[in-house]
Amino acid sequence: MTDTLSTFAAAKLADLDAAQLRRRLTPTHRLDGLWAERDGRRLLSFSCNDYLNLSHHPAVIEAAVAAANAYGAGAGASRLVTGDHPLLGQLEARLAAFKGTEDACVFGSGYLANAGLIPTVIGPGDGVFIDDLAHACIWAGAQLSGARIIPFAHNDVADLAAKLGAERAGLRHALIATDGVFSMDGDIAPLDRISDLARGHEAWLLVDDAHGLGVVGQGRGTAALFPTAQIDLAMGTFSKALGGYGAYVCASGPVIDLLRTRARTFVYSTGLPPASAGAALAALEIIEGDDALTVRPLTKARRFTSALGLAEAQSPIVPVILGDAARTLSAMQALEAQGFLAVAIRPPTVPAGTARLRLAFTANHDDADIDRLADAVGVLMETD
Ligand SMILES: *Cc1c(COP(=O)(O)O)cnc(C)c1O
Repeated sequence: MTDTLSTFAAAKLADLDAAQLRRRLTPTHRLDGLWAERDGRRLLSFSCNDYLNLSHHPAVIEAAVAAANAYGAGAGASRLVTGDHPLLGQLEARLAAFKGTEDACVFGSGYLANAGLIPTVIGPGDGVFIDDLAHACIWAGAQLSGARIIPFAHNDVADLAAKLGAERAGLRHALIATDGVFSMDGDIAPLDRISDLARGHEAWLLVDDAHGLGVVGQGRGTAALFPTAQIDLAMGTFSKALGGYGAYVCASGPVIDLLRTRARTFVYSTGLPPASAGAALAALEIIEGDDALTVRPLTKARRFTSALGLAEAQSPIVPVILGDAARTLSAMQALEAQGFLAVAIRPPTVPAGTARLRLAFTANHDDADIDRLADAVGVLMETD
């Protein structure tokens, strides 16, 4: 290793090691929607976003296999060339009906959706107001757009109002971008008040509901909790509660047509594979038909927060903030020794000083296991 690039990389890694911030892969065999095998040990996972355990649902797997058999393992090209296999149009029609919008556009992933959609609707001379804790791919899309980025304090409507008041007049177009359910905190954006501000300041509203679809608002997502909110761009993914892969944006007909012709991550990227589209269709079918299922992850999360006297969970995601990266890593190891998989989340995924166990509760978690986890986490919260 004598070349300068490898020397540079090794020095970077040494710095990350010293700060306990290096990330490493751990081969994980997910045995079903709950259990995962690591290093030959079976662990009960509280770290998967598979909130409805649909990744291993027989009907979803069967739909993926049937789609691959019918249309092949891959789309073969960008959708604008030959990759627009029939399941994609079906999936878009179903999503638009489910979300109550005129149309929908499927992307390869959530990251690709935000990285493509934001630069399509705003650019230099415009501004994008972003919640401080919004997902990394919203920031990436905003950076690619060349628009001015104006962060606002997390879920702080007064701060957003002040920033719109100060900045809006100097901008041509304005976009407000937020998560619906925040991925590392599990709390919910006040979409009714954010929407009012958007209308009042002639700004468009993008809501990334990756963690809301399927598990809040009767499975319909965060917007369903705020009937008065007007969301111009309702984005979400198939990779969380739907148990698969891929993403969508629901919007008006003209907006979706513009994305299909201009969003670079749509135009210059291969269409979502048939198996993923088939799985998403089957998962949506399950979610639409089973309100009792969609409410279960939240009920489970609330069992945990009430056992520990934490603020009541608003979604299936519950952060246990331990602060220090090293302390959080040792907490993860302590839980692993007791048979739980609860992955430590460290900066820069979360702000410095807020390293945490980010727990995710799912429909099929046993109440007794949740109680055991709460006991174990309670001990870790007390020890310093
Ligand atoms: C997971 C996630 C994404 C990225 O979605 P992928 O399909 O995994 O690329 C985007 N936004 C939020 C809020 C997420 O949690």
